[in-house]
Amino acid sequence: MGKSTLMVIKTTAVKPIAKLAFLTRYAIYVLLYFASKVTLQSEISILMYHSIGTTCSRYSVSIAEFRRQIDYLVRNCRVVSLGEIVDFLEGRRRLPRRSVAITFDDGYFDNYQCAYPYLKKHHLPATIFISTAYLQKKKLSNNCKLSMLDWDEIAEMIQNNIDFGAHTARHPDLCEIDIDSAKREILKSKTEIEKMTGKKVNYFAYPYGRYNRDVVNLVGLLGFRGAFGGEGVIHKDANTLVIHRVEVKRSIGYAMFKMRLTAALDWYKKFEQALKVAFEDFPPMSLVVDVYNSLDSQN
Ligand SMILES: [Zn+2]
Repeated sequence: MGKSTLMVIKTTAVKPIAKLAFLTRYAIYVLLYFASKVTLQSEISILMYHSIGTTCSRYSVSIAEFRRQIDYLVRNCRVVSLGEIVDFLEGRRRLPRRSVAITFDDGYFDNYQCAYPYLKKHHLPATIFISTAYLQKKKLSNNCKLSMLDWDEIAEMIQNNIDFGAHTARHPDLCEIDIDSAKREILKSKTEIEKMTGKKVNYFAYPYGRYNRDVVNLVGLLGFRGAFGGEGVIHKDANTLVIHRVEVKRSIGYAMFKMRLTAALDWYKKFEQALKVAFEDFPPMSLVVDVYNSLDSQN
């Protein structure tokens, strides 16, 4: 059990009732996981990674953990491209019940260094959404400066099943800037990637996963086939301009990684929302994740 987990449990132990409520919620999450298994509901999801193999960012997944997660996908799921997911949402293709797509946001150099070789070894497709203004520079991620990809690395990865999507030029929150600036940001990244790679850019990821109605309409008008924002597994009737993904960051344990590929996460969020309405001091989901990981690491 990790030190931070001990601290979390200690904090929650201050109030026995809070601890009981917390354990109840945790138990409900686990029950939802098994319920999602019994219903045989389709489990189609898109994973969203950021950096791989860096220790200073909490968004970065270690190389060992990343490989373990990819091994799980290879054994248990079918890894598909974003094109296949959009075809499925448009009703033009069927997908196996456990289909998963792999994406990375921002365009960190460690995607090339640490993730790409393993994806290539397994012949897996993936999409990297890049903010073009930062290419070949360093970008601040959660207090650490990380090197970004360059066009040579991008050209090499394109030859091996890695697709590139737009993620604006300078990564602004599109809900916080005017619509003309948003249009410039989105178009700049799209046209630059198309010019440098010679390939059409069909997919867009909203920076910080944030969007509003105007931004979604704009992305549709700019000719993208699919756009990605929001959290959760994929629903068959999802809007192709607001496709949810499942974020994978360092704090996620192996067991939780597997659980988050099921509908349990979506169901839990609905349950959490209902409880938030009823009770004001509802503990956040991260507490459940921490305790779940501590129990998992004991097994
Ligand atoms: Zn981003």
